[in-house]
Amino acid sequence: MGTAVRNKGKCMCKYVPDYVVFDLETTGVYCEQDAIIEISAIKVSGGKRIEEYSTLVNPNRPIPARATAVNGITDEMVEDAPGIREAIGGFMEFIGSSILVGHNIHTFDMNFAYDAAWLALGRELRNDYVDTLYMARRCLPRLSHHKLTDVSEYFHISTAGAHRALNDCLMNMECYEELGKLWKCQEEKAAVEGKGEKKEEFDLECPRCGGMLFLRKGKFGKFYGCGNFPSCRYTRKA
Ligand SMILES: [Zn+2]
Repeated sequence: MGTAVRNKGKCMCKYVPDYVVFDLETTGVYCEQDAIIEISAIKVSGGKRIEEYSTLVNPNRPIPARATAVNGITDEMVEDAPGIREAIGGFMEFIGSSILVGHNIHTFDMNFAYDAAWLALGRELRNDYVDTLYMARRCLPRLSHHKLTDVSEYFHISTAGAHRALNDCLMNMECYEELGKLWKCQEEKAAVEGKGEKKEEFDLECPRCGGMLFLRKGKFGKFYGCGNFPSCRYTRKA
């Protein structure tokens, strides 16, 4: 099973004031075999919380002990929860066309949500999104780890209740607002230093599609390639 090519939106690396921050809890790390057991999202406008969407999801299978050990979600808790069809439908309704924000969503949550929407509803999750993991790596290069709890601790944001979806959304919303301030400073600094290589090295926005560029290793050395490959094939020498 699984989705061979996901027609996802653009992965971006920047601050936007209006967005929906979201997080999923799952039975494991593999999209193809694991299931979503909690979906939470917070709509934010101008740095303020507007609305929340949060639901447990009944995965119609036992939750592995190793998943419960991480997020504390048990079989009993999801017994009367809606199935994925209703839960992801509500999520799609809630997010509309908003830009999505989340931590490590480029390789994890976006894929789970995309596949769930596609398999349960036949709908594509096309929203553009910002992965705060990449923003944190760029804004806080000296931090040795960039898990959501690491970034939160750096900013003195409470990590109480981590690994439940709504708590992680709140934590990440605060992180994103802080990262946004750093991001703006770095952009301004880069603009002043400007001119030529330094600016280009900082600017990881794909000039063709506005997506995010990733450093990759190829046959002929390192290069920057658009994260929206294969729909965008832009590359640049590193
Ligand atoms: Zn591109």
